[in-house]
Amino acid sequence: MEEKSNNQVLLDRKHVKRSSKFQMLLIAVTILAIALATGINAMQLHQVIQQETRRYVKDVSTQLAGDIDKLFVKNLQYLQALGDSFASRIQYQGVQQAVSELGERARKADYSALIYVSPQGEGYSSDPSLSGFEDLPGVQDSLEGKNGVSFLEGQSVLYTIPVEQDGKALGVLGGVRSKTNMQEVIRPRSFGGQGLTCILNQDGEVIISPTDLEPFLRLEDIFMKGGNAGSQVVQDIRQMQENMKNNVGGVFSFTAADNSRLVLAYDILQTYNWVLLTLVPANLITQNTDVYVTRTILITAITLVLSGGILVALNRMFKGYNRRLERIAFVDELTGALSSAAFQMKCRALLNDKTGGKLTVVAVNVKEFKLFNERFGSEVGDQLLRHMVQVFGRNIKEGELVSRSEGDNFFLCLMEEDMGAIKERMDRMVKEIRAFTAQLETPYHIVILWGGYLVENPEMDMNLIQDRAKTACQNAEGKTAAVDFFYSSDITARLMRENELNGLFDDSLRNRDFQLYLQPKMETQTGRLAGAEALVRWVHPKQGMIYPSEFVPLFERNGNILQLDFYMFERVCTLIRSWIEAGRAPVPVSVNISRRHFREDGLVETLSAMARQYQIPDGLIEIEVTEDIFFDDNRIAKVKQCIEQMHEAGFLCSLDDFGAGYSALGLLKEFDVDAIKLDRKFFLDIGQEKAQQVAICLMELAQKLGMKTVAEGIETQEQLAFLKRIRCDLIQGYIFSRPLSVPDFEAWADARKP
Ligand code: C2E
Ligand code: MG
Ligand code: MG
Repeated sequence: MEEKSNNQVLLDRKHVKRSSKFQMLLIAVTILAIALATGINAMQLHQVIQQETRRYVKDVSTQLAGDIDKLFVKNLQYLQALGDSFASRIQYQGVQQAVSELGERARKADYSALIYVSPQGEGYSSDPSLSGFEDLPGVQDSLEGKNGVSFLEGQSVLYTIPVEQDGKALGVLGGVRSKTNMQEVIRPRSFGGQGLTCILNQDGEVIISPTDLEPFLRLEDIFMKGGNAGSQVVQDIRQMQENMKNNVGGVFSFTAADNSRLVLAYDILQTYNWVLLTLVPANLITQNTDVYVTRTILITAITLVLSGGILVALNRMFKGYNRRLERIAFVDELTGALSSAAFQMKCRALLNDKTGGKLTVVAVNVKEFKLFNERFGSEVGDQLLRHMVQVFGRNIKEGELVSRSEGDNFFLCLMEEDMGAIKERMDRMVKEIRAFTAQLETPYHIVILWGGYLVENPEMDMNLIQDRAKTACQNAEGKTAAVDFFYSSDITARLMRENELNGLFDDSLRNRDFQLYLQPKMETQTGRLAGAEALVRWVHPKQGMIYPSEFVPLFERNGNILQLDFYMFERVCTLIRSWIEAGRAPVPVSVNISRRHFREDGLVETLSAMARQYQIPDGLIEIEVTEDIFFDDNRIAKVKQCIEQMHEAGFLCSLDDFGAGYSALGLLKEFDVDAIKLDRKFFLDIGQEKAQQVAICLMELAQKLGMKTVAEGIETQEQLAFLKRIRCDLIQGYIFSRPLSVPDFEAWADARKP
C-alpha cells in the first residue's frame, strides 16, 4: 500500500518536473510577447501621434492661411473706401491737393504711409523716404485695374487698389502696413517658439517672418543639403513645388540637415500666390506623450523583470524542494539504499529493457530483527542494516539494484537467472553480513533469510514480483537446496493450505480434534518400555488425519502452538491421572513444548499448576525442548532459569532433535537437562566408521555430563545392535512402534508385559 503511494509520488514528481519546465517556457514566451506587444504598441502610438501632429500642423497652417487671406481682403476693402474719397478729391480739387492730404489720411487710417501713382506713372508718397514703389508688381497690377499686394524692403506690405471715378482710371492708391501687423497674425502660431511660420513669395524668399530676430530654423539650412535625388525629402520637396504651382497645399515630415525631424506644412495664400510655410519639430506633441510612453514601457519592463525574477526565484525554490522530495522518495535515508519506490521504478525499467537476460528479485530480511534491536539497541540495529547495504553494494554487479523497503526488509534485483549461481552469491553475502557479530559484546547468531523470484513475465506487476520474492523468503527458512530458495507455485499452494488450516484451528481445538498419540521409548539393553513421547495428531472430521509436520511449523509462526501445547500437556496429565486411577503403573510421558513459549513469561508456572491440578507425581512428565532453543532469542539465561524451574516443579527435561541443526556442543554444559534425544540423522549411515565415531563421542560426552541418551528414529536391527554396543540408554523408533493412539498404546504395552 505504502509502496503504491510512493510510486504515485514518483509519478506526480515526474509530472511536476515536466509541467514546471513547460510552465517556465510558457512564462518566458508570455514575457517576450508582452514586451513585444508593448514595443509595437509604443511604436504605433508614436506613429499615430506623429500623423496627428502632421494633420494638426496642416490644420493650423490652413486656418492661418485663411486668416491671412481675410486680413489682406480686409485691408484692401479698407483701402478701397479710402480710395473712393481720394478719387473724388482728385476730381474736384486736383491731384496736388489730394496728394498733399496723403500724410494726414495715413495717420488717421493707421497706415505707415500712403502712396499715389498717377496713370502716367508718377509716384507720390506721404513718406518722403519711400521711393521706387512705382515699379512694384502690385502697383503695376493696380494700374491695370486689379487689386495688388507687394512686399517692401523691411518686411512691410503695400496694398494697392486702382482709383476710379465714373469709370475713369485716376491712378493707383497704395497703403503701407508695417510688418508688425502681419507678424502679430503669424506669431501666435509659432508653436510656443518651437516652430516657424513665415510667408514666402513664389521664388521661395521669406518675405514675412514672425520676428526680426533670426528664427531658429533657417530655410536655407533645411533644404540646402537635401540628400540625393532619390531620397524621400527630395521627392517631397519636388511634390511641394508641383503643388505650389497648382495652388495646392500639403504637409510632409523629413529629417533636417541637423538631423532633427521636422513637419512642414504649406498653404497657398489666395493673394498673389504667396506661400504660408509652417515648420514644426516632428516631436512637438510626441515629446510630451513620449514621456508617458517611455514611462509605460519602463513600468512594463520593470514589472516584467520583477515578475520574471520572482518566477525564477520561485522556480529555484520549487526545484530545491523537488530535489529534497526526490531524495526522500528515491533514497532510503538510513542506509543509502534505494527507496522502495525508486526500486520499483528502476526494476520496472530493467524489466522493460528487453536486451538483458532474465532478472531475479531477491527478498532479504533479518530473522527476528525486533529481538536483535531489543537486545543491542536500535543504534546497533541501524548499524547492522547499514552493514547489510554495504555488503550488498560490494557484491552486486553493475546495473543491479539494492533497496530497503522498510525495517529489515531488503530487495535486490540481480541480473542472474541461474539458481545455483544466485545461491552462491547470496551465501557469500549472508556470510559477510554475519561477520557483523564480531563487533558485538555478546555472541549472537544472526539469521539472514532470503528468497528469490525469477521473473518469467517482464510485464508482471512489481508488487506481485516482490510479494513472490517475499513468499520465497518466508518459505526458505531451514532449507539448503538452491531450488528451495526460489518461488514456485507449490509455495502458493502450501500457503493456501496453511491459510485453510489456520482457519480450522479454533474450531478443532474446541471440538478436541487434536488427538494424543504416544510413541514408546524402550530401554536399549533390556527392551523394556521405559516411557512414551506424546505426539499430536489432528484428526479432522472432514480433512482426515493431519500430521504435525504440516501444522506445527505454521502454528509456531502464528502462535497457535502455545494453546496447542497446553492442550496436549493437559491431555497427558488426564491420561496419567486415569492410569493412576485405573491402577495401571504409569510410564513417564514426554511432552513437546515449542520454543515459542520461551518468549513468554510464566510457562513453567502454567505447566506446574496443571500438573498439580491432576496430582501428577514428580518424574512422570518430561518436557522436550528443541535444540535450537539455544539460539532462540539468545535468551540463554532465561532458558537456564526455566530448566531449573521445571526441575523444581518435578518435571524432567530433555533436549530434543540434538544434532538436527547447529549442534552446539559447547552449550551442552550450560543446560542442566536430564536427557538428550539424538536426532535420527546420526544413525542413518551408521554402517560407516565416521558416523560411528561421532555417535560414540556424543554418547561419552552425555554420560560424562550425567545426561541420559535417547536415540530417535531407529528403524533397523543394525542401528539397534550398534546402539546396544555403545550403551545408548533409550531407543524410540519404528523398530518398536509407530506413534499409537492411547487405546492402541495401552494394548501394545499390555501385550509386551513380561
Ligand atoms: P519429535 O518431537 O522429534 O518427534 C519425533 C518424530 O519422529 C515424530 O514425528 C515421530 O512420528 C517420528 N518418528 C518416530 N520414530 C520414527 C522412525 O523410526 N522413523 C521416522 N522416519 N520417524 C520416526 P511426528 O509425530 O510427525 O512429529 C513431528 C514433530 O512435530 C515432532 O518431532 C515434534 O517436534 C513436533 N510435535 C509433535 N507433537 C507436538 C506437540 O504436541 N507440540 C509441539 N510443540 N510439537 C509437536
Ligand atoms: Mg519430541
Ligand atoms: Mg525429536
